[in-house]
Amino acid sequence: MIQPEQQRRAYLEALGIDVWVPRDEPEPAIVEETETADEPAAASPEPPCRDGLDWPALREAVSDCRRCVLHETRTQTVFGVGNENADWMIIGEAPGAEEDRRGEPFVGRAGKLLDEMLRAVGQGRDQVFIANILKCRPPNNRDPKPEESAQCRGYLERQIELVQPKIILAVGRIAAQLLLDTDTPVGRLRGKPHQLGGTPLVVTYHPAYLLRSPSQKRKSWDDLCLARRVAAGAS
Ligand code: SF4
Repeated sequence: MIQPEQQRRAYLEALGIDVWVPRDEPEPAIVEETETADEPAAASPEPPCRDGLDWPALREAVSDCRRCVLHETRTQTVFGVGNENADWMIIGEAPGAEEDRRGEPFVGRAGKLLDEMLRAVGQGRDQVFIANILKCRPPNNRDPKPEESAQCRGYLERQIELVQPKIILAVGRIAAQLLLDTDTPVGRLRGKPHQLGGTPLVVTYHPAYLLRSPSQKRKSWDDLCLARRVAAGAS
């Protein structure tokens, strides 16, 4: 049986981390700064109703959607991918340039890192369901505006209803703050389970942030272990 420390080392090695760095080395002080909100996330108004839509109808509604200005600049909508009956649902903020081009969330270097992180806790990309709060790319990768996330939120909520995951992993500051309707820094949101409409939710760093700040990858391991325990009903 693989011991937790071995598993942790394997995880860090997979993510390109020097496993010989002492564990009690002081963490850099950049966590709260770089993941702290530039501006507070506004509370979302009541989302539009998507009640009763099945997967094909929901996909069609998203692909034709013009509810906010982002439809004007998108290449295509990015609905989400993966197992429609997944135990784990991964939620980010919005598509980036490559996602907009390919029509799939979390691709490119950040997507590969997310895949590695999930694989380390036994979750392949085809086992989980991955989606964003916004289905269209904000121009120049700017942050989603409150009115955009409010207009789009109903699609995500219907996706959650259809998937019925055991655990939601909120990836990155913006996703965590929008989902939990808070402006609390991500460094204080992680480390404990939250609830989103009755589904447990765990917060972790965005893989793009981890690529810029590799020292934080150790904390992402703790987050994924917490998510695994919560999904198993043990926390
Ligand atoms: S971001 Fe969402 S609400 Fe806005 S146009 Fe795209 S699918 Fe519609």
